[in-house]
Amino acid sequence: MQGKVIKVSGPLIVAENMADCKMNDVVRVSDKKLIGEVIELRGDKASIQVYEETSGLGPGEAVESTGEPLSVELAPGLIEGIFDGIQRPLTALVQKYGDRISRGISVTNLDHEKKWQFVATAKIGEEVSAGDVLGYVQETAAVKHYITVPYGVSGRIVSLVGGSYNIEETIAVISGEGGEKKVSMLRKWPVRRGRPYKEKLSPSMPMVTGQRVIDTLFPVAKGGVAAVPGPFGSGKTVVQHQLAKWADAEIIVYIGCGERGNEMTDVLNEFPELKDPKTGEPLMKRTVLIANTSDMPVAAREASIYTGITIAEYFRDMGYNVAIMADSTSRWAEALREMSGRLEEMPGDEGYPAYLSSRLAEFYERAGIVKVLGKEDKTGSITAIGAVSPPGGDLSEPVSQATLRIVKVFWGLSASLAYKRHFPAIDWMVSYSLYADRLKEWFDENVAPDYFTLRAFIMRILQEEAELDEIVRLVGIDALSSKDRLTMETAKIVREDFLHQNAFHEIDTYASLKKQHLMLKLIYEFYRLGNEAVAAYADLDDILSCSSKEQIGRAKYIPENELDRFDGILKTLSAELKALKEGGAENV
Ligand code: ADP
Ligand code: MG
Repeated sequence: MQGKVIKVSGPLIVAENMADCKMNDVVRVSDKKLIGEVIELRGDKASIQVYEETSGLGPGEAVESTGEPLSVELAPGLIEGIFDGIQRPLTALVQKYGDRISRGISVTNLDHEKKWQFVATAKIGEEVSAGDVLGYVQETAAVKHYITVPYGVSGRIVSLVGGSYNIEETIAVISGEGGEKKVSMLRKWPVRRGRPYKEKLSPSMPMVTGQRVIDTLFPVAKGGVAAVPGPFGSGKTVVQHQLAKWADAEIIVYIGCGERGNEMTDVLNEFPELKDPKTGEPLMKRTVLIANTSDMPVAAREASIYTGITIAEYFRDMGYNVAIMADSTSRWAEALREMSGRLEEMPGDEGYPAYLSSRLAEFYERAGIVKVLGKEDKTGSITAIGAVSPPGGDLSEPVSQATLRIVKVFWGLSASLAYKRHFPAIDWMVSYSLYADRLKEWFDENVAPDYFTLRAFIMRILQEEAELDEIVRLVGIDALSSKDRLTMETAKIVREDFLHQNAFHEIDTYASLKKQHLMLKLIYEFYRLGNEAVAAYADLDDILSCSSKEQIGRAKYIPENELDRFDGILKTLSAELKALKEGGAENV
């Protein structure tokens, strides 16, 4: 029986005679063979979201099911790839068909002809099962791409060949219960299903980002989930780019859902230009980019976050730490809303479907740190960071609310901080990290035993500043004691010299945890010794004008290989403030 289109509504079509197909099957529509996915089945009628432009399509045209769910191809060739939401290669398409991608064209997602140098590491005769490493391809200088035994296959290796092969050619033969199975480097996986692992672990170490406000105040764990909500222009994209560059993750999956008309074109132009600070090579050498340009149909945008997370899982399964960024999930949610509207579903809050939260959760839940399949004892992680762009910055809207219920780290960007050019504009009064408590041990052991004491100190100072601000507003700064004014000044140092971090400054763009700790220590000592001096009746203005305070302000520009300079500043600070303390008595 042949499926037939009975209705076309933008990216949604309804077809009849579809009783044989299943939910989420991929179909080909009309003789143009447009790619679509079944998203609702009622009797023999299927609602299909079409990933390509549907103009010119009309009732009566044929619909054919492929019988397979929407899947991605997983093999060498992913790294440095730039794909659309259903993993069609944008660079290859543009090379082949020019800027306006025509419809219904068939290109494979990955290059099936390109030869890769496969190095076999397993042994013939070895008993293997899913996840065991057969060998690897050095895909780029930065990424060793492990080829493992596919899910569902186990047995004895009867043949294994190293050499130059494309991803379809057989590199191994495994003999198991079902007979002999030929294995190539290419795997396929349905995007809406999480890839299996042995065991999910509880996140216990941070994903270090080199961004001080993040690492020290609101750290994200490896395998954690974070959201960056903020209004237009508040710095969401810069935060995401900084994490892509600096986070200690081996693989980056970046999903761009452009906000402005040409923003995605910018991403496509800019991302390949980004340098990996660790190697000096292009960042793309360890990145997979998924780009939804504004001229692409919304349905492809809906699929893009699942395509992205499936690719992230694939690299996690090799034992890598993967960071996945989605910028912005609000554009993704709008695609969901549009499809839901066309399905004539009962609209929920602000027109978003009732399943908005569960769909978002299905994405974020696939992050985590896990023991991966295979006989080697390896862990891999996916850390997911989603930008959210609530209209007008109002977090009470549905996408922000649904996101906040799922994520454990919230970096709230504030328009007023961005307006004052305090970047990153992460508002310390509203942001939080639910991982902080369990990361304490790690920080104390791996950075310094007083790390979290210092962290608690600056949080308290910022809190006190907020309270003192109230008093100043009511009765003026003169009403404050010297002690309180010192607190206000210390808070200013915390904000301007520690939290403020210029992403575009050669040195300031990244601070190691060691450097962050040294900076914290300086600020703490300034406050502690300053308080001693104030208590001994030293003049506050003298404290504020001492040379070491100025040096604290410049500490962020100390290069990573000159961190021993902190020691000198600390000594000067201590000498200066002690002298003021001793001289204080004369002021009585
Ligand atoms: P959004 O994605 O929220 O619309 P962007 O990330 O594009 O905002 O940031 C807007 C502008 O703010 C940037 O072009 C940049 O000038 C400035 N900015 C944001 N974050 C930083 C930062 N960490 N350091 C310096 N400038 C920043
Ligand atoms: Mg942006």
